[in-house]
Amino acid sequence: MKIKVVTLGDNNTNCYIITEGNECIIVDPGDHPDLLLEIIQKENLEVKYIINTHGHFDHILGNNKLKEKTNGNLTIHKNDSEMIQNPFKNLSAYILSTPFYSLPPDIELNDGDEIKIGNKKLLTIHTPGHTKGSSCFYIEDEKILLTGDTLFKFSYGRTDFIDGNQEEIINSLKRLYNEIPDEVTCLPGHGEIFKMSEIKEWLKSVIY
Ligand SMILES: [Zn+2]
Ligand SMILES: [Zn+2]
Repeated sequence: MKIKVVTLGDNNTNCYIITEGNECIIVDPGDHPDLLLEIIQKENLEVKYIINTHGHFDHILGNNKLKEKTNGNLTIHKNDSEMIQNPFKNLSAYILSTPFYSLPPDIELNDGDEIKIGNKKLLTIHTPGHTKGSSCFYIEDEKILLTGDTLFKFSYGRTDFIDGNQEEIINSLKRLYNEIPDEVTCLPGHGEIFKMSEIKEWLKSVIY
């Protein structure tokens, strides 16, 4: 498995291209879909899934173009399905000059659902709080966790937007603290990549 990070847009959103053989998954195409398509075409990859870790505009602006130009299935937790299609919920109506309406997802996820690429699996861990449908994706075989805007290096997602909930994000962080081993590498929606072990003490202080 190969993972490439491309930081996109005004919010410096980390988009991850996860490749296994000639198939790939694009996680959070936050902007510049043409750049992503160029990378995919250059490496001759087939897009299986376009995953949104949650429904905010800075993680979804590339959805429509990628869906139009590839066979990738647009995939998001069911609780954020409406958010991507509503510019007031995905916040683009307040921040961008052109409100963004994403196409609806092809697949709505639930906690525990698995997404397959080659013989590898991404496990959906529903971690609400930043939004109702925020989810992390765990690739146990590779010791990788995609954390979206739920967990960053020494901070966590804001809960003061529409559908945010402080109590829920603390419960979600507790779950990650208890379920994710120290040696796992976390790939966040913004900022630096980090190891779970680096932030374990800090995380403990946040949740207890
Ligand atoms: Zn967000
Ligand atoms: Zn974000």
